[in-house]
Amino acid sequence: MADNESSKKRKRAGRRNKSHTQKLKLSTERESTSPKAERINEEATEKPKASASASAKCLKSQGKLSNSSSFLDKMKAKLSGGHFRMINEKLYTCTGKEALEYFNDDPTLFDTYHTGYQEQMSHWPELPVDIIIKWLKEHSPSLVVADFGCGDARLAKNVKNKVFSFDLISNDPSVISCDMANTPLGSTSVDVAVFCLSLMGTNFPNYLNEAHRILKPRGWLLIAEVKSRFDSTTGGADPKTFTKAVCDLGFTSVSKDFSNKMFILFYFKKKEEQDSKKKDIEWPELKPCLYKRR
Ligand code: SAH
Repeated sequence: MADNESSKKRKRAGRRNKSHTQKLKLSTERESTSPKAERINEEATEKPKASASASAKCLKSQGKLSNSSSFLDKMKAKLSGGHFRMINEKLYTCTGKEALEYFNDDPTLFDTYHTGYQEQMSHWPELPVDIIIKWLKEHSPSLVVADFGCGDARLAKNVKNKVFSFDLISNDPSVISCDMANTPLGSTSVDVAVFCLSLMGTNFPNYLNEAHRILKPRGWLLIAEVKSRFDSTTGGADPKTFTKAVCDLGFTSVSKDFSNKMFILFYFKKKEEQDSKKKDIEWPELKPCLYKRR
């Protein structure tokens, strides 16, 4: 029994020490690991309700219920904030296929997610999608764009280009619902592929592979990601390792922009000629971006 326990401890320690750079098996569907998410869920669905009514009773008895509606509003905001963080964690710890099933089972979760996402974004000094919109406006409007994980399709709504917008759920006729590892577009059909804060699934290399498939030779790949995911001092990936992996997929790195407080931007171009020999690509693990309670 004791031996068994110490062998378990050793295994756990081994797992902790494993390098962050590892080969992600693209075909292996990882199970979601979200014990923390469950904790948030419990808190979000039960505790606030109970404490809301208890606190309301207490305030009433003290004759202090004058601002009860703002109190309830605060409670509701807490609930939906907790729900958002739970869905967010789920999306970062499962594959795109699992995420698609999760939202298809209950599409209202997608709205809850996006309400919370917009709330978080409202605190950012600048949005990466706006930088990408600006970049597109400085290039030819004839470039055909694929927006992978488009959210509310802000990008498509703000440029003249033809934009194919993809997301797990479509609340807008212009958005094509799919797992972006498999889009309905033909090979070498677009000029720009955009991933704006959307490399969420544990199988993110599949999404980049799909972008590579649909991009024309010399087509652009623009990636905006949360800075903390690339901060190797706090368990994030090394941007150099990530860049090397994308280049091994068949791209050249054009530039990187670290100037923003909250996110990094990577600019790649698809190689004109592809290497005849397929490389074994070492993808870094991209840690989930978990938003803090506010
Ligand atoms: N690009 C938008 C939204 C970012 S939120 C913006 O910058 O505002 C990330 C989006 O990626 C979410 O809408 C999520 O549903 C979507 N997403 C995550 N994994 C996906 C997948 N496998 N297929 C399609 N969309 C995905």
